[in-house]
Amino acid sequence: MRIVPVSLGNRSYAIKIAPGLIGRLGRECARLKLGARCTIITDTNVGKRYAKTVFNSLATAGFSPALIIVQPGEAAKSLKTVQSCYDQLAVHRLERKSFIITLGGGVVGDLAGFLAATYLRGIAFVQVPTTLLAQVDSSVGGKVGVNLKAGKNLVGAFYQPRLVLCDLDTLKTLPDREFRAGLAEVIKYGIIYDAKLFAQIERDLPKLLKREPKLLAAVVARCCEIKAKVVGGDETEGGPRAILNFGHTIGHAIEAVSGYGRFLHGEAIAMGQVAAAKISHHVLGLPERDVERVTRLFQRAGLPVAIRLRAAQRPKFVAAMRHDKKVSGGEIKFVLAKKIGSVVWGQRVPDELIHQALDESVNRKS
Ligand code: ADP
Ligand code: ZN
Repeated sequence: MRIVPVSLGNRSYAIKIAPGLIGRLGRECARLKLGARCTIITDTNVGKRYAKTVFNSLATAGFSPALIIVQPGEAAKSLKTVQSCYDQLAVHRLERKSFIITLGGGVVGDLAGFLAATYLRGIAFVQVPTTLLAQVDSSVGGKVGVNLKAGKNLVGAFYQPRLVLCDLDTLKTLPDREFRAGLAEVIKYGIIYDAKLFAQIERDLPKLLKREPKLLAAVVARCCEIKAKVVGGDETEGGPRAILNFGHTIGHAIEAVSGYGRFLHGEAIAMGQVAAAKISHHVLGLPERDVERVTRLFQRAGLPVAIRLRAAQRPKFVAAMRHDKKVSGGEIKFVLAKKIGSVVWGQRVPDELIHQALDESVNRKS
């Protein structure tokens, strides 16, 4: 088993990474000295596969678990679902020492983490992320929340779990498209922080796509380590944590103009990262060769690297970038790469350069 410590003072916790962890969940939770009553929150897809194992593991360890099942997909990250879950938590009589287990991808993690942060002014929660994206990204850092009509993640909190269990076996049933989308965040860690990781992914991509357990364990652990280090230095995003947004300003805008649901988050940020690499070439002199390595790796991972925006979509695209939560004082700040493995944040980029980067990547492909 690999263990990645997340050091956040008295809110520190461990991320444990191994196959077969959900069968040991009960024993792991027993070490946290929480109350007996707990509630598993999952979605229908994940629930039908894994809820029983999780439930039995908790019951065997002496807990009294209850189960809440929500619909799969982004729509579940709503205040309507929150309301319905609060009512169910009340029926289950959760108390201050009770806890929530989030079993699922980023959607379930964000939603159930938000419930934990707010129910009874905050109860403990344990995260069991079951998508690659959730294991390497949303399970580290304590961002929880739901969407409003006006935008994604507009209501939420920073609230840390007590424990994160990444069971690599659960990734076996993840649909191929979801797995590849998760790789977009994995590759991101290579670009922003770790040239060796990037080179390892270039070398071992076929094995990674086959979800080889040993390699997967090493890669998931490395990504968590990087995120933990970055978040540890900047828990609430005043500064350095911004590097995690590489490719995301453009990626979020792509998600917004193409209608949520057309692209998975990972797909949108793959395109965003390729565009950011292009811009980095113009602004910071990222070598052409590195731009090509980045583009090529996303392509090999089966991710989109270009989007053709219609002229009519452009103003909407720029408006979406300006609406991004990360914008302060109306100024869009970019994370750009100097070389693979090293980025700088807070870079100003003229709109023309953004459009040029998007156009260039289209031309390159065709
Ligand atoms: P993400 O983690 O990418 O934010 P979601 O929470 O929306 O995404 O999960 C993506 C989809 O994959 C959902 O339909 C969810 O039900 C499904 N899913 C999550 N984990 C698994 C798994 N281990 N096996 C099969 N399907 C899964
Ligand atoms: Zn992301």
